[in-house]
Amino acid sequence: MRIRKQIWDEFWRLVGAADRIALVTHKAPDGDAIGSLLGLGLALKRIGKRVITACHDPVPDKFRFLPGASEVLQSPDGIAPDLLIALDSSEPARTGRFAGLINSPEIDVLSLDHHPTNTGFGLLNLVDPDASSTSELVMDALEAGGLALDESIATCLLTGIVTDTQAFRTPNVTPSLLLKAGRLMNAGAPLYKIIAGTVASISYIVLRLWSEALRGVRLEDGVIWAVEPLEMRKAIGYEEPGDGHLVHLLLSVAEAKVAAVFRMERAGEVEVSLRARPGYNVASVAREFGGGGHILAAGATVPGSLDEVVARVLPLLKAEARREI
Ligand code: AMP
Ligand code: MN
Ligand code: MN
Repeated sequence: MRIRKQIWDEFWRLVGAADRIALVTHKAPDGDAIGSLLGLGLALKRIGKRVITACHDPVPDKFRFLPGASEVLQSPDGIAPDLLIALDSSEPARTGRFAGLINSPEIDVLSLDHHPTNTGFGLLNLVDPDASSTSELVMDALEAGGLALDESIATCLLTGIVTDTQAFRTPNVTPSLLLKAGRLMNAGAPLYKIIAGTVASISYIVLRLWSEALRGVRLEDGVIWAVEPLEMRKAIGYEEPGDGHLVHLLLSVAEAKVAAVFRMERAGEVEVSLRARPGYNVASVAREFGGGGHILAAGATVPGSLDEVVARVLPLLKAEARREI
């Protein structure tokens, strides 16, 4: 699916009518969340808008090199925009403490997103599940609006595209996306530096966490999974959210059709990261547990102990891996 010119015109009409614009992305932000947030933020500033960028969690260290990263706000206090644009967020709750602003009847909200699970919470929903990333959609928006790229904007957007496609390795990479990446490089985005600093890099502490988690890795009926108990994370001294995406490594195992990592980041609930090979669908499994995401990359936060959550989720993953494709 592509977003029609008419819809982009409507987007630019609403942006044009607003002076103060708040851009908000999802909590526990990934490279696409931050790249689309900062890229669109810079572009709107260039056309004279008063822009604030916001995220429930701080910008992760590996994205701090991006222009504007130090200006991202973490609190909604005192924010009263004419227009709010939610990026890479399938529903208001994904933005954490900014959900209240999104749900406020006084604020016009636009949703710019590529999640098929997007709930359509905006006044206008620019949702394209075929887009590789929300950053690609921001690039479409800029091109539809006739806005020029510069090195800063291009660096943010290429970072979002590179991280959501794991450096152009996902099945939604199209010739058109590669041409867009070429245009971003022409505008000055440093592809090698972006890849080397993001998808091709993990910290030593993440490697140690993975090595612990991999002691218990299991492969059954096409499903590969590992668990990260709270005590394991604490013993290693790993306090941040996420884990640098062990689930990608698991899915690279040739025998695996579906991969899962079950992480306990807080007592009482488990973060479930799911990945599938093309032909299988983990978004449907994530949805069963109140989560969401994409067909091949999804997640959910499930209340319960690790053992309980694994016992509930695993049968659905095995059923998915058994599907004839
Ligand atoms: P992750 O494994 O954390 O990279 O998540 C993969 C995808 O699943 C993300 O792009 C999100 O869209 C979605 N996702 C992850 N966690 C959740 C959650 N708790 N609720 C809804 N969607 C989620
Ligand atoms: Mn994201
Ligand atoms: Mn994304």
